[in-house]
Amino acid sequence: MKTVLLGAPGSGKGTIAGDLAVQEGFEHISTGELLRDAMAQKTELGIQITDTMNSGSLVDDDIVLKLVLQKVEAVNKDKGLILDGYPRTAKQAVDLNKAFAEKKIFIDKAVYLDIDNNVVVKRLTGRRTCSKCNSIFHIDYMPPKTEGICDSCGSELYTRSDDKEETILNRIDVYEKEIASLLDYYKQEGILVTVDASGSKAETYEKIKKILI
Ligand code: AMP
Repeated sequence: MKTVLLGAPGSGKGTIAGDLAVQEGFEHISTGELLRDAMAQKTELGIQITDTMNSGSLVDDDIVLKLVLQKVEAVNKDKGLILDGYPRTAKQAVDLNKAFAEKKIFIDKAVYLDIDNNVVVKRLTGRRTCSKCNSIFHIDYMPPKTEGICDSCGSELYTRSDDKEETILNRIDVYEKEIASLLDYYKQEGILVTVDASGSKAETYEKIKKILI
């Protein structure tokens, strides 16, 4: 099963995809994580994208597609693949389809996590991310057992540089400009499924598991 997860920042794409990777063996590819890794390692690419990432705007299409394709080559696709945060625009969806078709990879489902913007802002301002394994927590809704420490690997949690209110608003703005045409694209492909993602993590996880497994 090859899936793309679509939805607003904070809709739960990373959390759900992370859980599906751990519990069901899916390969989880997050473009946000790949880009943050490049920034953390201060590679040439990392330095080039820092301002764009910190402003909440989209990184250049060709850069992101290249990262995705490199990662796809490196993982075992037989187990199932989840793309989280890619594509984000209809153009990226078209480019991905073309690049995947050349590799005889076909996307089975596009799952859209539908959620209200007010919920999203609350989720993002309280989000804490593990500096090592990328597990996601929330200071109120999903607090770690020990404050500031990852339950999964014991490393320090941090607040992403783009999880501050001003940047969050720009990220939502960018998302709102693109989402309708992105959804249209997958609707026309006949593979779009919409899931209400306003409930708990467990509720959303079960809904998506039923669709994918
Ligand atoms: P995320 O972790 O998915 O919230 O992504 C964090 C940031 O990474 C975004 O705000 C963008 O700056 C960048 N990014 C992630 N995925 C993409 C993408 N598909 N296209 C362009 N930029 C992206």
